[in-house]
Amino acid sequence: MNSSQTIHQLAEDIYQVRLPLPFALKQVNCYLVKGTSGWTVLDTGLNTPSGQAAWREAFRALEIEASDIHQIVLTHTHPDHYGMAGWLQNYCKRRSSADAPPVLMSAREARTAASFWGPNPDWKKTVLNFWRSCGVPVELAMAITAATGQMRLRVLPHPSQVKIISAGNELLIGDRQTKILQVSGHSDGQLIFYDQAAQLLFCGDQLLLGITPNISVWPHSDPNPLGQFLASLDKLSTLKVRTALPGHRGLITDFQGRIGELKEHHAERLRHALATAQPMVTAFEAAQQIFPLDKLSVHEKRFAVAETAAHLDYLVERKQLRRETGGVRLYIRA
Ligand SMILES: [Zn+2]
Repeated sequence: MNSSQTIHQLAEDIYQVRLPLPFALKQVNCYLVKGTSGWTVLDTGLNTPSGQAAWREAFRALEIEASDIHQIVLTHTHPDHYGMAGWLQNYCKRRSSADAPPVLMSAREARTAASFWGPNPDWKKTVLNFWRSCGVPVELAMAITAATGQMRLRVLPHPSQVKIISAGNELLIGDRQTKILQVSGHSDGQLIFYDQAAQLLFCGDQLLLGITPNISVWPHSDPNPLGQFLASLDKLSTLKVRTALPGHRGLITDFQGRIGELKEHHAERLRHALATAQPMVTAFEAAQQIFPLDKLSVHEKRFAVAETAAHLDYLVERKQLRRETGGVRLYIRA
């Protein structure tokens, strides 16, 4: 493992740690922030052997001892951000006599983690039924469910000491006083952290460069994620941000410009989604018209259908479609 590929210093006290992901997204950006009372880890990566090696290499290169890690902060509990939170706690426990650092997240994300990744004996049935309700053919729904089972293994062990933090409060990340903001849409209770003095925003996956944040309906998720996402962009557009540090890809320096592009992307996608209902469509049928589904991996198909469902649900909220929920959710021109 070459530390120059893994670690990138962004400021005197901030290092970006790029961890490998075994799917098309390739990498997740985590952050190490240095402060007088220790280091903050922000987001953790998926628990894979190469992810563990990347953290070990980062700690070695920056001469960080286990006892120096004072808190692990999560923006949200998607597996690529949550996956190694418990592993990192154990890593610290094994190497230090001090208490393991707490894992900080929102109450909503803790609930998401418990329902999605927790020891729920019904998870398979819930997941399979959800994809079938989107109109996904049974073989693909079963393949998606199997892939979800694989993902469940990559978020183990779960963190043991969790501390709930809430929007509106402040959080010291390193020595930076940040304001905690909750932004929904990508994940129901995602938190992002705004350092107003530096006009710097740890923005999680709410804004990304080059790719659009995935806005999807999932089993257990709140209704109308796209409506919530667009509302959050409106709120965020009032912030002064010189640099946003996202969960994937490059840093965002034209914050307002990127907000505008994301809104335009979804407006266009909504037009496309509406046009698929002639006069009725399932989320799977609509996704077939919007994405080259045949060319996508199971993992990507899952995102394509869930994202299409989010657009169709938004059109239901806008009363351009109505939704009939028998076994399969059917979207019909209003
Ligand atoms: Zn992510």
